[in-house]
Amino acid sequence: MATLPDTPAHDTYDVVLVGGAIMGSSAAFWLTKIDPALRVLVVERDPSYQFASTTATNSCIRQQFGSEVNVKISQFSAEFIHNFASAIGDPAAPAILLHSFGYLYLADTPGFAKVLRDNAAMQNRLGAATRILSADQIAAEWPFYALEGIILGSHNPVNEGYFDGGTMFDWFRRRARAQGAEYIRAEVVAMTRAGGRITDVTLTGGRRIACGHVVNTAGPRANAVAGLAGLSVPVEPRRRFTWIFDTPEPLGRDLPLTIDPSGVHVRTDGRYYMAGCPPEDGDPAVAFNDFRMDHHLWEDKVWPAIATRVPAFERARVINSWVGHYAYNTLDQNAIIGPHPDVTNFLFCNGFSGHGLQQSPAMGRGIAELVVHGGYRGLDLTPLGYDRIIRNAPLLERAII
Ligand SMILES: Cc1cc2nc3c(=O)[nH]c(=O)nc-3n(C[C@H](O)[C@H](O)[C@H](O)COP(=O)(O)OP(=O)(O)OC[C@H]3O[C@@H](n4cnc5c(N)ncnc54)[C@H](O)[C@@H]3O)c2cc1C
Repeated sequence: MATLPDTPAHDTYDVVLVGGAIMGSSAAFWLTKIDPALRVLVVERDPSYQFASTTATNSCIRQQFGSEVNVKISQFSAEFIHNFASAIGDPAAPAILLHSFGYLYLADTPGFAKVLRDNAAMQNRLGAATRILSADQIAAEWPFYALEGIILGSHNPVNEGYFDGGTMFDWFRRRARAQGAEYIRAEVVAMTRAGGRITDVTLTGGRRIACGHVVNTAGPRANAVAGLAGLSVPVEPRRRFTWIFDTPEPLGRDLPLTIDPSGVHVRTDGRYYMAGCPPEDGDPAVAFNDFRMDHHLWEDKVWPAIATRVPAFERARVINSWVGHYAYNTLDQNAIIGPHPDVTNFLFCNGFSGHGLQQSPAMGRGIAELVVHGGYRGLDLTPLGYDRIIRNAPLLERAII
């Protein structure tokens, strides 16, 4: 995709997607699948995707959310992943493995233990396999943990763990293009707003493209793109760190994605292990090009935390690390999808914080349904709409990562 054209073939499109990573590509796939007659343009400023959240991801999926809509979205994603070739519409597409080692949320306070119990009850009601485990039950299943101070854990062994998000991204793009979506390398730098509509977008170089709908799939740059339409969205870039490490004494079985009360998370990563956490400086918004690694964090925070929880990690050795940006929704860390009430052909698809990769199949379909049918048909995504931003009514998740 690095040799994309920098100008579009037409002057008018039914839909212009601003950003062509996982969300823009999922939306392009679903739009052209649901209505092959649509003329769809995907504008991507950097087709190498080297700074996109999509290529910095840890690529995991969970069913353990605190709101029903997010559980249902993940159930749809799991189905999409399990039936990938038919879901993506090409028998040549590979199977995508969902490595279900589960997330294990650990509670060391009665308050958080109650949150996990309440969440598990709701998840079970929706069909998820979440189990609440005592510290003894955890120790029996995974003897490598040290569990001092842990009251209980919440674990789901079904449809929760790692999946190959890179392959899913690749096939969203391939199928979108095969179905007629056009990708260009350019930046959307301006928009014309007339009354309650965006009439055209301006590309780098000044070319103006008329559009029926504009979709904001700009990841951490969501608010900058909203600003081009005279709008705003509470999304900002925040750094997240990932380390891959090895240990001379392997644990003997998969390490669930363990969300430790210290704020560090750690899991199996093939024959290695992966750990991650936010920065310790108050987690401020950063510049779009700020990918500084806080190197001291491994020594000062991550290593001590994981070696306390899993003593075999005393001898951990880092073999890789990277920094990525969350598109952090400051209201409630959840997706914001759908139109702005005052500019009804400007659709948000933003603010996914740490769970956008897994939500991309449902989000792309939701955008396509809004454009083609004027409303949701598969899953009702209205709880994730923009109006909660206006009402300042967060859809809070109490067990985030
Ligand atoms: C360290 C880390 C770990 C994560 N782990 C997980 C996980 O385990 N599971 C999970 O589900 N999610 C995870 N996420 C989140 C997930 O990766 C993101 O939510 C998802 O990739 C967001 O995709 P996106 O397409 O919205 O944004 P991005 O991937 O950031 O893409 C936005 C694109 O828009 C382009 N763009 C921006 N402005 C313009 C413009 N004006 N004109 C043209 N193009 C523009 C950019 O160049 C970019 O390519 C993680 C994220 C990070 C950083």
